Amino acid sequence: MNTPLLIDGKAAASSVLQQVREDVTSLYKQGIHPALAVILVGSDPASQVYVRNKILRAEEVGIRSLEHRLPSDTDTDQLLQLIASLNADDSVHGVLLQLPLPAHIDELRALQAISPDKDVDGFHSENVGGLSQGRAVLAPCTPSGCLYLLKQACGDLRGKHAVVIGRSNIVGKPMAALLLQADCTVTVLHSRSKDPQALCRQADIVIAAVGRPRMIDARWLKPGAVVIDVGINRIDDDGRSRLVGDVDFDSALPHVAAITPVPGGVGPMTIAFLMKNTVTAAHNQSQAQRSLSEAVCPSIS
Ligand code: NDP
Repeated sequence: MNTPLLIDGKAAASSVLQQVREDVTSLYKQGIHPALAVILVGSDPASQVYVRNKILRAEEVGIRSLEHRLPSDTDTDQLLQLIASLNADDSVHGVLLQLPLPAHIDELRALQAISPDKDVDGFHSENVGGLSQGRAVLAPCTPSGCLYLLKQACGDLRGKHAVVIGRSNIVGKPMAALLLQADCTVTVLHSRSKDPQALCRQADIVIAAVGRPRMIDARWLKPGAVVIDVGINRIDDDGRSRLVGDVDFDSALPHVAAITPVPGGVGPMTIAFLMKNTVTAAHNQSQAQRSLSEAVCPSIS
């Protein structure tokens, strides 16, 4: 078998971000300054790091960022008020609610309160429904990034058998919807699947989104499979803390045609697609406003 391709998520993310920068410049020329509001409730240390990274990346590509830090005793109604004010603010194009929220907040209500046009995470039911109908909507960032990497690694995805391991609302299910849109034959595995290893071994493409360190090893893989490892798991390795994926990289490598590393695979793509969704949202909102003003003040011919 040929040497396996190491799928470089950092390089791919950097080319997505370069395109975003160019799109931001062209929106600026039309007087539109894309802006992303990020809401963080509480002081979860991992969430603070994620929010900081998102804000830094936004600034790097010319997207204005607005950070809203709320104390952990914020209640659902207070959060909904903030979201309503951001929805009503025409200078804000994307609203991101950093998850997880403190347990006393109604997460579903808060996510549903974000205007679908500004829902840059793609979690609102209108966007979820649109994705499953195959419409062009704001799709969740991590699976969008995985699809981009797959297209780079495989070219044409049509007719390929893709196995998605995991069925969460943020990764597994939207991933399956995007793969269906790309004309793959899709199997979704979860904790109740019978003989998942045998099912996975039939796959041309494996997307691992389980949250279990190194669960998928060579026994799960057909020779020549393309593997996207979404998992980010912190483990203690001989007293040293480090990140590993859901795939046992060393075991899988000799069997695959291509594979993403962890870190440096899917991770950078998630933020890159958040920026891309923000620019798309800004573009869509400016188009919608233009159509509205044309409808209100039709030009007299
Ligand atoms: P969830 O915990 O929400 O979902 C995990 C899924 O895996 C569930 O559907 C569960 O099944 C399934 N599962 C658990 N055990 C097994 C098993 N033994 N066999 C088959 N399926 C199993 O996780 P997420 O989807 O949120 O995240 C998955 C991983 O991806 C995590 O490591 C997370 O950190 C990472 N992640 C990485 C991102 C990135 O930017 N790179 C972004 C988001 C997540 P069931 O539904 O039956 O319980």
